[in-house]
Amino acid sequence: MANTQADEIEIGVDDGHGLAPLTPGKRTPFIQSIGRFIPENEFNRAVAAYLVKELKRCGFKVVETAPGDQDHSLESRVKRANDAKVDLFISIHFNAVDGKFDGPGKDPEGFSAHIDPSGGQSEVFAKIALKHLAKGTVQKNRGVVKQQLYVTANTKMPAVLFELGFMDNNREALLMVDKSFQKECAQEIAMAVCEYYGVTYKPEKETPQVVKPSGKQTKKGEAVMLRDVQAYARPEFGTQIPTIIKKGEKRNVYDAENGWYRLYGGEYIPSNYGKNFIYTPVKKDEPPEDTSQPPEEHKVNLRRVVVDGKRIGSFGDEENLERNVLQALRSNFKKIEVEDV
Ligand SMILES: [Zn+2]
Repeated sequence: MANTQADEIEIGVDDGHGLAPLTPGKRTPFIQSIGRFIPENEFNRAVAAYLVKELKRCGFKVVETAPGDQDHSLESRVKRANDAKVDLFISIHFNAVDGKFDGPGKDPEGFSAHIDPSGGQSEVFAKIALKHLAKGTVQKNRGVVKQQLYVTANTKMPAVLFELGFMDNNREALLMVDKSFQKECAQEIAMAVCEYYGVTYKPEKETPQVVKPSGKQTKKGEAVMLRDVQAYARPEFGTQIPTIIKKGEKRNVYDAENGWYRLYGGEYIPSNYGKNFIYTPVKKDEPPEDTSQPPEEHKVNLRRVVVDGKRIGSFGDEENLERNVLQALRSNFKKIEVEDV
């Protein structure tokens, strides 16, 4: 697929079954450790909700084919997808065989992608998705299953129904209520959608990039830290970078607006009503300091992870870097590079 404009692509997201009324049989056996059954839709809707978020963040348009808690008929799910002419239909499910736990190693396990026997683009997408779903939590990859299912047979676009584990496998049943697993499934499917359409996947949290102002900067004043002060990539909370400026350190300030002070590297520190640092503006008659040479400041040491030419993200702290490299190592890669930013 050569299409790279995510906002021209609409994805139909379908959370299998509904909570009310509960589709008969669509729940786990009673689970002693949590003292209840888990309805299949409890998992399906959570993953679908995460998936909608993921896809929207990556720029796609999304149509939910079974919104809300109530169950929707298979006909209405298909009709919504066909009426909206979505480009791809994704249905989220959790599998079951005999509805009882048979003990460790005896129950079926794993995830699978179910498509119409005609294959085609559904199969192309299904295979990409299985590759991504095989990352992260260790589960058996049961592969592509070609069978006649109402939603995949009657939707007019490529359609894949995912069964992401088995409700009657004790270990996998517990994954249904594991938020990190739900999120991981959604992320992996979103990555597959991105790969299928040639769109760059946008991770949820990327260390914000500090943009150093170009050209000569004019010093406006000086800030002396009253305590350890967190630095930010932009003048807004939520954009923190791994830089902390220590109590007692002095920094030149090149811009001051709305309580945010820009430092030489382009990073910002908030004054926090004067609690974070003492700011002294340059006196009017004092000539502006020549700033063609950067003052002594410790640099933010960001390192970028690049997998097969695709930038995964830039990371300032070791732990984050290591986690992302490990994640990349588990993928189907040819080359992983770590470079200084
Ligand atoms: Zn189902």
